Amino acid sequence: MAEHIGRGDSGGWGSVELILGPMFSGKTTELVRRVRRYQAASKLCLLLNYKGDARYAEAGNVVTHDLTQLKAHPVETLEEAHNRVWQYDVIAVDEGQFMPDLVEWAERWANEGKLVLVAALDGTFKRQPFLPVLQLVSLAEDVTKLKAVCAQCHREAAFTHRKSPEDAVELVGGRDKYEALCRACHAQSSTEMALSSINLNSPSAVSCMHPPVKRKSTRISNARRASLPEAGRENRSKIISNPSILQSPSRRRRSLQAVTIR
Ligand SMILES: [Zn+2]
Repeated sequence: MAEHIGRGDSGGWGSVELILGPMFSGKTTELVRRVRRYQAASKLCLLLNYKGDARYAEAGNVVTHDLTQLKAHPVETLEEAHNRVWQYDVIAVDEGQFMPDLVEWAERWANEGKLVLVAALDGTFKRQPFLPVLQLVSLAEDVTKLKAVCAQCHREAAFTHRKSPEDAVELVGGRDKYEALCRACHAQSSTEMALSSINLNSPSAVSCMHPPVKRKSTRISNARRASLPEAGRENRSKIISNPSILQSPSRRRRSLQAVTIR
């Protein structure tokens, strides 16, 4: 890990330092630690965080998972910060994987003499690359990959796993949605989730690449069943006996619910 307090001055001393790793590996904590160190050396530091991340606190702070806070400027793109960057020695970017222009501006600021620190996920919850982050690896002077503790076996964990079935790449969340897992536990959990996704969508066996449809619970108590009007029960029977509703998956699901209710 390269830490030279004298860097960050203008005049060709710019560089890019990357802090990578899965969620809960301490990337933001490490970013904040480095920023505080440069501040102690009288360097002017600008901390940028992602505007869409309001997990723990009010906007304007970078907050780590252990709730350490530091004043930050929220942005959606790095370009938004460009007109204020000239005043600073050190530009620190948190959640770099969400910045669409990460490579362009990190490289430009470093070329202008700034020390650019970037904390970012290197891979998605499916262990796919965040391409701009990996592009920046080729342009960085220093790369650190941190590891977390596997939530299941407590060995070292290098990967992020999403506990919920949502499929979008960008889904901001904390321990409610994500966990860090080692290679073996990630493979096992991903397989189990794919299988449960298929089961949820059977009998049509919809591809596990699609998020499973959340279905409302169809269980009703005997008392509730007894209170259902006869007409209601008849309607459900008609739904099941009407073949035209079986043409679309959504309708097919509804018919399955009706089967359960009966
Ligand atoms: Zn594990």
